Amino acid sequence: MNLILLGPPGAGKGTQAKMLVETYQIPQISTGDILRAAVKDGTTLGKEARSYMDKGQLVPDSVVIGIVEERLQQPDCKTGYMLDGFPRTVPQAEALDGMLQNLGSEIDHVVSIEVDNEELVKRLTGRRTCRECGAGFHVMFDPPKQEGVCDKCGGELYQRDDDNVETVTSRLQVYESQTMPLIDYYKTQGKVRPIEGVGEIKEVFNRVTQVLS
Ligand code: ADP
Ligand code: ADP
Ligand code: ZN
Repeated sequence: MNLILLGPPGAGKGTQAKMLVETYQIPQISTGDILRAAVKDGTTLGKEARSYMDKGQLVPDSVVIGIVEERLQQPDCKTGYMLDGFPRTVPQAEALDGMLQNLGSEIDHVVSIEVDNEELVKRLTGRRTCRECGAGFHVMFDPPKQEGVCDKCGGELYQRDDDNVETVTSRLQVYESQTMPLIDYYKTQGKVRPIEGVGEIKEVFNRVTQVLS
């Protein structure tokens, strides 16, 4: 099964993806995680990406398209995959369609997670992420057993540089102007599965698995 998880920053894409990985045994491909790893490693890619990410802007299409093209050719994608945070612009979606055509494959479902802006701001400013395994938590909505420590691996939890109110505001604007048009793009292809994203994490997960079955 080939999936796209679509939704604004903070909608719960990463949270749901981690649960879907276990249920469907397909890899999560998060362009945000790949870019953050490059920033951490101080690679050329990381240095270029960082200036955009810190401002809450999108990294140029050509850069992320290259990353995804390479990733989709890895053997673990043969039985399916989940794209989390890609595509984010119409040119990225068009490039993806081109890649998939070459690989003789296609997207089955676009899971579109819907959450209002007020809730998104609360989620993003309270988000904590594990430095070691990337697991996500929330100080109020999904707190770790021990403050600052990852339940899954014991790693240190940190607040992402771009999860501050100012950058969040610009990311939400970028979502509306550049990413929302993808909903119509995939509606035309009959692939959009809208999901109400407000509610318990487990409840949202049940909604997702229901539309996929
Ligand atoms: P995205 O990957 O879409 O940016 P995340 O999965 O990282 O979003 O979730 C953003 C924040 O909201 C995290 O702190 C996460 O723990 C929290 N969160 C995720 N799903 C829910 C939910 N259903 N209700 C409340 N908080 C949630
Ligand atoms: P979010 O929690 O907002 O969904 P991500 O981890 O997906 O965050 O993305 C963080 C940042 O990485 C984005 O604000 C953007 O700068 C960059 N990024 C991630 N994916 C893409 C993409 N597909 N196109 C352009 N920029 C991207
Ligand atoms: Zn961890």
